[in-house]
Amino acid sequence: MLSAAIIEEFASIVGTEHIKVDDASLLAYSYDSTAACQALPDAVISPGNTEEVAKLAQVCNEHHIPIIPRGSGTNLCAGTTPLSGGIVLLFNRMNQILEIDEKNLTMTVQPGVFTKTIFEAADAIGLFYPPDPGSMHISQIGGNISENSGGLRGLKYGVTNDYVLGLEVVLPHGEVIRTGGKLAKDVAGYNLTELIIGSEGTLGIITEATLKLIPKPEAKKTMLALYHDLKDAAKTVSSIIENRIIPVTLEFLDQPTVKVVEEFAQIGLPTEAKAILLIEQDGAEEVVERDIENISQLCRQNGAFDVSIAKSEKEAESLMTARRAALSALSRLMPTTILEDATVPRSEIAKMVTAINDIAKKYDVTICTFGHAGDGNLHPTCLTDARNQEEMERVDKAFEEIFKKAVELGGTITGEHGIGAMKLPYLYLKAGEAGIDVMRQIKKAIDPNLIMNPGKMFHYSETEVTTD
Ligand SMILES: Cc1cc2nc3c(=O)[nH]c(=O)nc-3n(C[C@H](O)[C@H](O)[C@H](O)COP(=O)(O)OP(=O)(O)OC[C@H]3O[C@@H](n4cnc5c(N)ncnc54)[C@H](O)[C@@H]3O)c2cc1C
Repeated sequence: MLSAAIIEEFASIVGTEHIKVDDASLLAYSYDSTAACQALPDAVISPGNTEEVAKLAQVCNEHHIPIIPRGSGTNLCAGTTPLSGGIVLLFNRMNQILEIDEKNLTMTVQPGVFTKTIFEAADAIGLFYPPDPGSMHISQIGGNISENSGGLRGLKYGVTNDYVLGLEVVLPHGEVIRTGGKLAKDVAGYNLTELIIGSEGTLGIITEATLKLIPKPEAKKTMLALYHDLKDAAKTVSSIIENRIIPVTLEFLDQPTVKVVEEFAQIGLPTEAKAILLIEQDGAEEVVERDIENISQLCRQNGAFDVSIAKSEKEAESLMTARRAALSALSRLMPTTILEDATVPRSEIAKMVTAINDIAKKYDVTICTFGHAGDGNLHPTCLTDARNQEEMERVDKAFEEIFKKAVELGGTITGEHGIGAMKLPYLYLKAGEAGIDVMRQIKKAIDPNLIMNPGKMFHYSETEVTTD
């Protein structure tokens, strides 16, 4: 609970109209897209510029008030749940594209700009910003950077990290640092840009980002391959890569997911297939033609019973949109949807998909699987009901086994969704205790009062974390 004096101090920095302490606002920011995790903040504040963010940080640091930076709250790891109260910082007033530099092919943005807006602004002048998380219509670049988000184009173009050249960051004690810049090369000291990327709001507050743009590809084609056996789809993924073709998109959807997505999007997806691959290639016209032809052959050789190429841009876009709607479609079926992102080397996809199905059977839980198969990044999604305690215990056990299997296969517990509070108990599986200790020391060096997004990534002390 914040004192009236502190609230007045915040109001003197941002203006009374930009600080909310009413019940409805606190409730609205007590949760994010993650199931079954909720805690009330003490205030919700929308600063208008870096200076205001810095002043807010100084006050919070002095009084040990937690700061939870929040984009659109679409994270799936309870990354913005205010577990220890404190202030939720919104960036709805810091949502401008500050500059597009066509000489250096960069775009400089404030943290609250939507990902889709960045893509469209680049596209309008023949440039390309590739990272495209399924949430890109509403997710913000500050959130994307803090989670190092991937997307449907990750296989060929990489993830957010590959497109962040520089950052402006407000540190917990209010100091403002600039990292990187409009530079193709920069090895001056530790790479602080990369330290902040993926740090999930635990080290500082991103107030500006300089992004890399690339030329827009000349042509693209989208295709679907249908399978009676999901192992054949998984084999195809490895086979395409083994044949040294790197498509932009190589997405996998199992039958339960296809059925639900089709019911939701109604675009004629083949619900009779046990699994489908959605594949897209872009580049020079002749390269796209050749790759799509070769990929079609590989799909057939690996057991696809049907391969079709989208006939128009509109058809291609509706396929991609339908894929992006997979989570929304699945979440209509049951009160609680838990989406995970176990990731394995591409060569292990078939084994991982089989293991997920076996584990779901063993614990008698419903798990649909889709994901960025080309990246080995699967999204086993459990449809359940958080009110059923007994079932939730089985769900937890199933996911723990899935994470262990992913690590056993040389993979990781999260490919793109981050740790937050949800995967905190499993970080040791990937980082080990010594790795976690290094991270803790970095955190303490930058944020000695532990005010930045407490309760995320790793524990500090038991009293600091309160889950609902
Ligand atoms: C339907 C759906 C589809 C999705 N598809 C994908 C996908 O394909 N790939 C993928 O990687 N993820 C995906 N996600 C997860 C999520 O959308 C991403 O993690 C996204 O980057 C979060 O953006 P956001 O603006 O909602 O951030 P939030 O959820 O609000 O915040 C995410 C993290 O960033 C921190 N943060 C936010 N802004 C700042 C800032 N300015 N400074 C410091 N820290 C900050 C927060 O504290 C938090 O830790 C999906 C989610 C949904 C609901």
